[in-house]
Amino acid sequence: MNELLGILPVKLKESMKDNGIKAFVADQILDWVFKKSVVNFSDMQNVSKENREKLSTLYNLFPFKNVEVLESSDGLAVKGILTLEDGAKIESVILKERDYYNLCISTQCGCPVDCKFCLTGITGFKRNLKAAEIVGQILWANNYLASKKIDHRISHLVFMGMGEPLLNYDELIKSLAMIHDEQGFFISTRKVTVSTSGFIKTIRQLIEDDVKLNLAFSVGCVNRDKRIEIMPVEELNPIMDVAKVLKEYQALHNRKLTLEYTMLAGVNDTDQDIQDLIGLAKYLKAKINLINLNPHNKIPFKEISNSKLHRLKTMIQNQHVPVTIRFRKGRDISAACGQLGESRMEEANENGND
Ligand code: SF4
Repeated sequence: MNELLGILPVKLKESMKDNGIKAFVADQILDWVFKKSVVNFSDMQNVSKENREKLSTLYNLFPFKNVEVLESSDGLAVKGILTLEDGAKIESVILKERDYYNLCISTQCGCPVDCKFCLTGITGFKRNLKAAEIVGQILWANNYLASKKIDHRISHLVFMGMGEPLLNYDELIKSLAMIHDEQGFFISTRKVTVSTSGFIKTIRQLIEDDVKLNLAFSVGCVNRDKRIEIMPVEELNPIMDVAKVLKEYQALHNRKLTLEYTMLAGVNDTDQDIQDLIGLAKYLKAKINLINLNPHNKIPFKEISNSKLHRLKTMIQNQHVPVTIRFRKGRDISAACGQLGESRMEEANENGND
């Protein structure tokens, strides 16, 4: 059966026509899925029973077998633990911003990159997600907001959930087309940020394919020797070469570039480390986002003190580089940055697989 969310609306309409479904019915279905956020054909009230039954034999609409929802006590984050058709689980987090909703989206089940400060890396890698499974997370989130009578749909996306998006390049590009499509989720790519730990070959591919995105580069540490210790990706993708290709990418358009910097006490928090980070930000005309580590007993690092975090922020500001500190939403449900996959890990621990 075809995954409905993996087919661009224009192609879907053709496919429905080939199966005897009239054009106006196809439009109604697109409206139910992408505007009204319905996840079952049976809920499409203005579509005839005959057509609904036909559709359910032709397409799989919702790519998740089961959904478990955890709501944070601060009301700012909702985590969906989504079970895929093969039983694997991924996580996705709705983040409430001041006047809109953001979704932190996963692109892989687990992650092969193995950043030493990230729980997702510790859980290991299972497989890449298909485009339908990537955009299915938006449908889940919109359906959740509708079920709570919240008069908003997801308007911003950050590809910062489980996985390294650029290692699932083809499905990422397919999902961006669904996200951007007027009859799809219709979210401007200016409101989409893709995070990467820095893969030179695929950033070059973005350039060749003329894909314009806001990128967030996870720095770890600018010093190569220190970076290798916490981000093994550095071995084949030296940070200075990544910086050069990012600069080339930035020169082609004026999309935002953010340097994500996870603070690890005693590892990347000296004044020299921050000075190097400032130098990189100036070279790339990028904004810096300081993220204090979300500590966990499986991660061999500690967070830095709040006073130090603010001192480092001031040090950056004094050199006229834009800087923010990421507020850690949803810590109580392990929905904060670098914590996704925690639920899977707990399960593994319960099953004695630790
Ligand atoms: S930080 Fe991102 S790239 Fe690194 S292990 Fe975690 S999910 Fe993978």
